[in-house]
Parts: sequence; structure tokens; C-alpha cells
Amino acid sequence: MITGGPGFGKAALSIDVEDWFHAANLNVAREAWGRCELRVERNTMRMMEILDARNARATFFVLGWVAEQCPRLVRAIAAAGHEVASHGHDHELLYSLRPSEFRSDVLRSKQCLEDLTGKPVRGYRAPSFSITEWAIPILQDVGFEYDSSVMPTIAHHRYGRLNGMDAGRPVTLLRDGFYEICVSCIQLGKRGIPWGGGGYFRLVPYLLWLWGVRKILRSGLPYVFYIHPWEIDAGQPRVAGIKATHAFRHRVNLERCEGRFAALVGAFEWIPLCDLIDGWKVRGASSELQ
Ligand SMILES: [Zn+2]
Repeated sequence: MITGGPGFGKAALSIDVEDWFHAANLNVAREAWGRCELRVERNTMRMMEILDARNARATFFVLGWVAEQCPRLVRAIAAAGHEVASHGHDHELLYSLRPSEFRSDVLRSKQCLEDLTGKPVRGYRAPSFSITEWAIPILQDVGFEYDSSVMPTIAHHRYGRLNGMDAGRPVTLLRDGFYEICVSCIQLGKRGIPWGGGGYFRLVPYLLWLWGVRKILRSGLPYVFYIHPWEIDAGQPRVAGIKATHAFRHRVNLERCEGRFAALVGAFEWIPLCDLIDGWKVRGASSELQ
């Protein structure tokens, strides 16, 4: 296990707690969610077992819709010592919402999660990384302290953008008291190759992935990983009639993902994203996070 030390960044783990039918690639209508088989509770509990066996702590960005269906799950995440953060309520891409609708969505999810855990919710991640500039002051106004929705890459049409993001500076103070934590890329100038999770984690050979994570950590930067509970669930229902590229992105190597995830969790010492923020506050603009 690699445990930080001089010259090493921290490894931070995040899990976007949504079910298989929330994934944008599957394009399942909101009205149909109630008729889909709920598998998120079992898959998330399995991920928590994997973390627990390796003493890893993580941030769980929970969708408000899931929290309403599975309140026990949210309480179990908090009770296990993980950070509970918000993935919004209805998984609408920010581009499709007016600012007032976005405000209601994030506020609803934040209040629901805080009622369940009794703790303040500090972090937010936008559905499908669809963050946009106007959302940031709203997030701060409703009481969030950080956003983690930027992947500084040119590789994906749906991912959001914020001004001034740089793959070489993954923790950025956006406004006084409000931070952005970028999901990791391997740096190529100011942009990079996505190396933070999702379909890329399932597609790239595991040992190559591990090499990339070590390369980022050795450079002294934090490494920020993300995964969804449905990615360890090869038995989830198939959705007919979607584009072949979307079906591929959703399903590639699902059957190998649990083993890979367990190996990755065992290979490093993991912290939740709030600990990265707290470390940044203590050290300020130290070389470790810059
Ligand atoms: Zn999501």
C-alpha cells in the first residue's frame, strides 16, 4: 500500500450514489424510474464492505431521489464514517435547468440528506459533470462549501466547464470560502486524459490505470477517483433502443469492475473529499495541492 509521505499527493475517493437507470447514457425517462428495479442499496452496501475491509473512507454524492427511496442507506453511509454529499435531487443536466429550478433541486437534496444524517452537507457533484458558471454562486448561497464536477479534459462532449480550471491544480479556490475539486486527469498542458474513473476506469487495462494513478500521486498532486454503485453490477437490466456508443460506455467491463475496484481501494490510502479541502485550508497554497 502507498501511504502518501513526502512527494506524494493524497488519494481521494468519491462514489456517485445513483441507480443504473439514472445514468445519462441509458436515457431512461424520469416518469419510468418508479417502475425500474431498485439495485442501488445492495450495490452501495457492497462497495461499503469493500471500503470497510481496507479501512478506506470516501465521499458519497447521494442523489436526493435515492435518499428518499432508501433513507436507511444514507444513514448507514454516515454511520460508517464516510462523507455524505449531494448529487442533486433529480439528476437533471444543468444545461436543461433554469437557475431557479437548479436552486430548488440542490436545496431539496441538501435538506433531505441533512435531515437523514444530522450533519451539514458540504459538497456537491453535478449530474454527468454538467457544471456551469452560473451554478457556483447558487451552490455557495445555499450553503455548500465545494463542488467536484469538473474534469479538465477535452475528451467528452457532455462534461461541464468552469473558467480557469487546470489539470495541474486540482483544488482551486473559486470564490471566498468555496472550492472546486477536479476529478483527475493525466496532465497534457492545461487539459488531460480522463484518469478519474467511470467508463475509462473499466476500459483501460488495470495495471496501466495503476501506473497513471501513481504518476499523478508522485507528482505531488492529489488523485481524485469516482465510481457509481451500478458499475459493479453486471446483472443490471439492459435497456433496448439506445445508441451503440452509449450502450458500450455504460456496459464495458462491468463484470470485471468489482475486482478492479477492490484492488484499487487496497492499493492506496483513501480519504474523503472534505479532507482534501480541510488539508488545503491548513496548508494554504502549499506545493502539495498547487
Ligand atoms: Zn450521476
